[in-house]
Amino acid sequence: MNPHTIFLCTLLTFSLSIYGVSSGVTYTVVNEAANTPGGQKFTKLIGIPYTKEIMPKIHMFILNTILQQTNPADRKPIDTVEIFIRDVKGYEALTDINKINVSAVYLDLYQGDATRGDLKWEFTSLLYHEMTHVFQWTCVHTTRCNQKLIEGIADYTILKANYYPPPFAKPGTGDKWDQGYDFTARFLEYCDTLTPSFAAKLNKMMRYTYDDSYFKNLTGKPVQQLWKEYKAKYGQPV
Ligand SMILES: [Zn+2]
Repeated sequence: MNPHTIFLCTLLTFSLSIYGVSSGVTYTVVNEAANTPGGQKFTKLIGIPYTKEIMPKIHMFILNTILQQTNPADRKPIDTVEIFIRDVKGYEALTDINKINVSAVYLDLYQGDATRGDLKWEFTSLLYHEMTHVFQWTCVHTTRCNQKLIEGIADYTILKANYYPPPFAKPGTGDKWDQGYDFTARFLEYCDTLTPSFAAKLNKMMRYTYDDSYFKNLTGKPVQQLWKEYKAKYGQPV
């Protein structure tokens, strides 16, 4: 039996308009950890209705603002995004193609405070990151991809969405351009000031494979030179 069929009651379809182009995408949310402390927190403080409400909004933000895929042919052929709240530990969330697994243990242990947002805020931030993984290109025909850069693009989404937590890297910090996550997101933010829509163009080039030369193609400068100039701009040693 297909385990998903028992959750069809949670299925909700939105008809979305992207740059005037209609796109039907289905969003599902399943709380498989409803009997655990984290799963109960999810139900009480976040909930399936809220999650289904923000998924299409986050999707639109990623397509329009981050990836800027006005042409449907440029988009990943994803027609369903599935979220599972699972009783697992060891990670906050794990995305496999179009399936996002969120750890109920992480939700249970998360502590919001005056500087970090509450659990709902944290969950929303997490979805901005994970849903970027669903829709960004990750070099489909080759293993020659830069995983740290992929994480940097996902964190670039939360930076642009203004859903980044206070520990997020400050501009100019980090040891190398592909350190990943927030450090690489800040570097991408800098590259965007040199070449408009840099991150979107870079993502488009990463459809089948990746090479550091993409940075030179887009900005005229090798990535290491860009990194040096980025560090210098913020008075940071390389
Ligand atoms: Zn990630």
